[in-house]
Amino acid sequence: MALDGITPQELRDAVLWHLTYTLGKDPGHASLYDWRMAMSFSLRDRIVEPWFDSTRLTYETGAKRVYYLSLEFLIGKMLNDAATNLGLRDVAERALEGLGPRFDELVADEPDAALGNGGLGRLAACFMESLATLGVPAHGYGIRYEHGLFRQRFEGGRQVETPEDWLKQKHPWEFERPEVAYEIGFKGSVHGDSWSPGESVMATAHDMPIVGWQGKWANTLRLWAAESTNLLDLDRFNAGDYTAAAEPEALARTISRVLYPDDTTYAGKELRLKQEYFMVSAALQDILRRYFVTQTDPRQLHKHVAIQLNDTHPAIAGPELIRLLMKRGLTFEEGAGVAERVLNYTNHTLLPEALERWSTWLMGNVLPQHMDLIERLDDRHRKAHPDRPKHVGIVQNNEVHMGNLAFIMANKVNGVSALHTDLVKETVFADLHALHPGRIVNQTNGVTPRRWLKLANPALATLITDTIGEGWEADLDRLQELEPHIGDNGFATAFGAAKRANKVALSNWIGETTGIATDPDAIFDIQIKRIHEYKRQLMNILQTVALWHRIRQDPDGDWVPRVKIFGGKSAPGYAVAKEIVHLINDVAAVINADPQVKGLLKVVYPPNYNVSMAERLIPAADLSEQISTAGKEASGTGNMKFALNGTPTIGTLDGANVEIRERVGAENFFLFGMTADEVVARRRIPDHARLAIEASQTLRDVLQIVAEGRFSPDDPDRYHGIVDRMWHHDYFLVASDFDAFDAAQSRVDSAWRDPAGWQRMAALNTARVGYFSSDRTIRGYMADIWDVTPAS
Ligand SMILES: *Cc1c(COP(=O)(O)O)cnc(C)c1O
Repeated sequence: MALDGITPQELRDAVLWHLTYTLGKDPGHASLYDWRMAMSFSLRDRIVEPWFDSTRLTYETGAKRVYYLSLEFLIGKMLNDAATNLGLRDVAERALEGLGPRFDELVADEPDAALGNGGLGRLAACFMESLATLGVPAHGYGIRYEHGLFRQRFEGGRQVETPEDWLKQKHPWEFERPEVAYEIGFKGSVHGDSWSPGESVMATAHDMPIVGWQGKWANTLRLWAAESTNLLDLDRFNAGDYTAAAEPEALARTISRVLYPDDTTYAGKELRLKQEYFMVSAALQDILRRYFVTQTDPRQLHKHVAIQLNDTHPAIAGPELIRLLMKRGLTFEEGAGVAERVLNYTNHTLLPEALERWSTWLMGNVLPQHMDLIERLDDRHRKAHPDRPKHVGIVQNNEVHMGNLAFIMANKVNGVSALHTDLVKETVFADLHALHPGRIVNQTNGVTPRRWLKLANPALATLITDTIGEGWEADLDRLQELEPHIGDNGFATAFGAAKRANKVALSNWIGETTGIATDPDAIFDIQIKRIHEYKRQLMNILQTVALWHRIRQDPDGDWVPRVKIFGGKSAPGYAVAKEIVHLINDVAAVINADPQVKGLLKVVYPPNYNVSMAERLIPAADLSEQISTAGKEASGTGNMKFALNGTPTIGTLDGANVEIRERVGAENFFLFGMTADEVVARRRIPDHARLAIEASQTLRDVLQIVAEGRFSPDDPDRYHGIVDRMWHHDYFLVASDFDAFDAAQSRVDSAWRDPAGWQRMAALNTARVGYFSSDRTIRGYMADIWDVTPAS
């Protein structure tokens, strides 16, 4: 099934054909959008055959299938990804020569598919790509949100959200499947084992082919859109009541209208529960329909199907699968037995506020039969484990604990880094782990090297291919072969040139988008991720203030120039995170305008961080900020993208930082701060924050400057809340880790003064992190969780 070659001329003909016959445009009058559509359709055509072949082969071999259920897929742009994996990027560039826009202009014109909040959704997207690359028969299931993650703007330094509307233009990568539709019920009443829903909507499939590296295999990402089950109410319409006539349609569509922008906190909303059930029920109905095309015995489901639940969001899959199996004649007990062998659950967080809980009232109202089944599952587990502690129960204090439900219904439960998995065993699921030893396994996260190196960093990718030959893209451990070359003059020069070119490009883009001038020879020090207290952007900006203060005291000192770059969105309702956003912008405005600093320090915060911005920033980074409070970041994947692109980390022993440091070597990682155990111990000390601040002259000065209103002269009290919480609360231990962080930043400066040494460190990061390919992660899931082998 190797991809047939295509010449630039052939692709050019295809583009012109689509422009004419699909878009109905004369090339002389085509817009950028028209050209992008025509190119997208032409490349999509190249995916259809491997896609059909993959499906056919899966049916022929009867291979076990993997289903990845996720409320989020943070995909980003698709055109460049498809061109890269098809090996047609150069061909596409040449095909367009002399026609009109350049290929990179088409790429830039595409809106990001932002159907996710951050790391969890991006992981799902990397997994889909790796599953296709490895030739695993797999489907992703999610929701086709009309509005993805909100757009972020700054007004007077404050975050302002506006709706995202990626579907306003045609989405050329999807195939609508009006014939694939399932009815999804809510509410109503239950009589025995039969449920009469009081409301229902239709879930309609939209398929996106996901093509793997070299176009050998393609899987489907099936996203569900909600539609009304009712036809237009013609009587009302004819009577002139147009609003009422359109109401059922509008209500139904609400379910797939918006992505919840709550990154880590549980959204106690009926609509959210409906979204979760909507996706899960449609997916499971679809999975069973496909199963019964070739099979007859539902008790054998586990031999043919493995289902992965990405966090607790799809955890209603347990009772729903049982319900659907009971409709096919199985008893409750048989259905539960099947479900337990098929379902698996990935835990992504230890933050207690992020483990979903629903009131039994809400669950009983929205999903009455599921509430019954949940009670029965809880009884069943209690009977099997009569001595089980109370708090492992699924239902406690009139709440359904989705984490416990997901765990109890799972064949395997996994954490996402070695440290995180240990903490899962010791904390949130300690008692369930004791009852079910062997159920929890680790699968350290990874990222796809096709998008995060080949596509995002062509300069470095080319150097790698020139140095170790082709093939590393799907065999990332081969990056180790770079190591013997790192000392070579030729390699060192080229590596430095690649990084510098990326920094010049970023500096130009920053100038265009923010108007701030930045020096490409300064350290590009980057922290990009969701804004959250545990990620400690606050510590980073306060340390920036400390540096500014120092420079002002000695403006002619021998300072290492720095550009501090921030990126990230706060959840709209997360007030503390929004204050931090505001503070970063206020600090940036003052520092960037301070003549005494003479450009030695710049602070940049481009708005609307997303996948495309990550692709732009990461290849140009010198320093990767991974500074979360130890024990709070489950894994992180941003940390892996940076290291892969030749960027040393300044970081704590948290999440996958631990494993990154083990692999790149302690001497190539700027470690600081308390360990997870020390964090727990420190929190027990009353007044830990005050003690830490009193012990640090630097931090005291910084907090004084902020409290005085130096960054908010128009509103001097603006940051009293932040400063006050630092002194009296500081749950995430910014104060306790501050001096260690500041000292680590000084070590960064010292290391930077030795350019050859720095560059060696950067190159060793690239050479030693092949392990963090999501191909390795998926192979781990295949062996330890799904029991599947590739079909191709
Ligand atoms: C990789 C990625 C993330 C996750 O970053 P972390 O630093 O691991 O939190 C979030 N958002 C986007 C757009 C990403 O590409």
